[in-house]
Amino acid sequence: MLIAGNWKMYKGQGETAEFCIDLRRHLADLEGVEVAVCPPFTSLAVAVQVLAGTDVAVAAQNVYWEPEGAFTGEVSAPMLRELGVYGAIVGHSERRQFFGETDEGVGRRTRAALDAGLSVIACVGETEEERERGETEDVLRRQLSVLKAEDNLVVAYEPVWAIGTGKTATPEIAQQAHAFIKSLLDVPVLYGGSVKPENAEELLELPAVDGALVGGASLDVDSFASICLSASRS
Ligand code: PEP
Repeated sequence: MLIAGNWKMYKGQGETAEFCIDLRRHLADLEGVEVAVCPPFTSLAVAVQVLAGTDVAVAAQNVYWEPEGAFTGEVSAPMLRELGVYGAIVGHSERRQFFGETDEGVGRRTRAALDAGLSVIACVGETEEERERGETEDVLRRQLSVLKAEDNLVVAYEPVWAIGTGKTATPEIAQQAHAFIKSLLDVPVLYGGSVKPENAEELLELPAVDGALVGGASLDVDSFASICLSASRS
């Protein structure tokens, strides 16, 4: 079971240090759950420092496929490794929606990150329109076609209509989508989309759910820790 917190573009170094100090205290006795936080690039170093010696891992929110070069604004896998970062999210729907990332690019970012020794959380999920048109499985099949099962790869099923909207997938929808993903790719599958302390337990209990990628609710240390504790009971 893995619980990862995607902080998006929130928390500079000061807030990150404060959060990580509190998180250490909250999770001191946690067992049976892997926990990761994914701060913005500029806060990775301080998170790595404060969480050193704990079981909480630090991951980035994206990674580029070239190791270095004239690629303004990008950060490579070897650069993240040098910082002590353990992994990266790839293909988050906000990257696809606002920054034009494609399935092909997601495949290349994932490949380069895994080859450099990072773990990857690769995100997939359909939009509301795609679900309404009955295209969910086609979309998932297309998004997954650029990935292959291997150690250190985890997929996050994040229906776009559930991200930051307060609309959570029903347990039936989540279970069905996760089972479909696992039928195509034999990897752990996290659920993401408005996971909160109040709904974490019923989602994490589902047989095909191997953890959660948490956005909004991961920004508050009490609510993030409470989701991690729910995972340890599931
Ligand atoms: C996310 O950003 O990956 C996410 C799932 O966000 P939220 O939990 O806020 O819906």
